[in-house]
Amino acid sequence: MVNEGEILKPIISEKRDISKESVTFDTDEVWKIVSENIRLYMSPRDYATWFKGVFLEKIDNGIAEISCDLPFKREWIESYHRNLITKSLTQATGQKLEIVISIRSSLKTNPKTIDEIRKESPEGEKNIFSEVQEKIQKDKSAVARSAQLNPKYLFSNFIVGSHNALAHAVAESVVKELGTLYNPVFFYGPSGVGKTHLMQAIGNEFLNKYTDKKVIYVPIEQFLNELLESIRNRTNEKFRKKYREIDLLIIDDIQFIETYPKTQEELFHTFNTLYQANKQMIMAADRPPKEIKNINERLRSRFSGGMVADLQAPDYETRIAILQQISSDHGLTVDRDILELIAKNVENNVRELEGAAIKVISLEKLGHPLTLEEVAKSLQVDIESKRKRLKPEKIIEVVCDVFDVTARDIKGKRRTAYLATARQVIMYMLRNELGLPLERVAREVNRQDHTTVLHACEKIEDMMKDDSNFKDKIETCKSRFE
Ligand code: ADP
Ligand code: MG
Repeated sequence: MVNEGEILKPIISEKRDISKESVTFDTDEVWKIVSENIRLYMSPRDYATWFKGVFLEKIDNGIAEISCDLPFKREWIESYHRNLITKSLTQATGQKLEIVISIRSSLKTNPKTIDEIRKESPEGEKNIFSEVQEKIQKDKSAVARSAQLNPKYLFSNFIVGSHNALAHAVAESVVKELGTLYNPVFFYGPSGVGKTHLMQAIGNEFLNKYTDKKVIYVPIEQFLNELLESIRNRTNEKFRKKYREIDLLIIDDIQFIETYPKTQEELFHTFNTLYQANKQMIMAADRPPKEIKNINERLRSRFSGGMVADLQAPDYETRIAILQQISSDHGLTVDRDILELIAKNVENNVRELEGAAIKVISLEKLGHPLTLEEVAKSLQVDIESKRKRLKPEKIIEVVCDVFDVTARDIKGKRRTAYLATARQVIMYMLRNELGLPLERVAREVNRQDHTTVLHACEKIEDMMKDDSNFKDKIETCKSRFE
């Protein structure tokens, strides 16, 4: 057996004039040659497993159409033997051909059952197929590991809100149009807002989509350390090869380049090499390129030459959604009150939000009752003092602002429907957020009767149930009380 990377000896010497527009091939003959070549690279058992039932259907317009009897074989061949087939075809035909692999249609309409396949399999009862599936999975994980990608960071568990919508849209489209749409992509935002998650999600999606392409995720400090080591050990070539012969390079925490001016030169060259070859680069930092100190202008202008997109701290609703996701990941449904308490108190950072949620979840798992007080205690939030900090004037000010009315209108006699609703919102908030007595609430809005307050609270609760826009407005107010 030889390794796939080794140079092949030509199997046939071609006398064909490939400058002629179209050459017709005897596909059986070509496939025989290709198969012979493939056999050189694998054990007879592997050959039988993967290439029995695989044929060359036709060569047309520079495309070799290969058909195969089973979908998982196609996946495997695509992932592991595409290059070998392409090379062997070039040798056999003297032409550089694209390959497409399809499932034969007779089998598409009448697929064999897995039992039939097993019976036919030379291994008899032994389930070679599940073994193979396992191997595909293992190999995929190994590729992800060597690319330094963590399989838990995915698009599917990245929650999108207005604070990160642009960055998310850029991330999704960049995987679709690698190297051509935005290059480089530069994400920035404070710590814990999801930059690493998003970039890793791009890497994982990339691996899923392009099985024969290479990606590396690297924090800039690691890039620097490897560079210094390669200089020390005189292995620069290896270093360059590693970072310049890839299709997607993801560099995290670029701001640290400030402290390591020596990396700049190498990074610049890596950058140019990849850029000129239309390879994609994605970076993240805690600040935009123009605020990174100590870097030379040409590197800075490279950083900002593609798409620069920011991520901010999540808004209130997204914080709630993230908390819901975390609790459902742990098989729990946590009361809205509690989620709100956490979301109100942990505002700047998803990492801390996760920390708080995990704390609460462990309380629940330890059998503690999940009351607001317990949760507040564990988060070291003093609900009472919070209430003390928030003043009725602040509530009135925020609600007036959100509903675009004035405090004078609220306290005055006018009773348009809109104004009445805004007034009721204030009563509801004074009651629910501050727990003020009914009479006091009535006084704040210049009303006499405490039944007005009760009626207001009921009405606002009903409206929130029926009208999601209205509910959003209420949440906006709440998030601005802090
Ligand atoms: P950064 O790199 O910006 O410092 P990370 O990507 O490490 O932040 O995010 C911190 C934690 O918060 C991670 O566990 C990540 O999965 C989680 N996280 C951040 N943003 C989101 C989001 N929008 N949806 C789900 N989880 C998120
Ligand atoms: Mg990070």
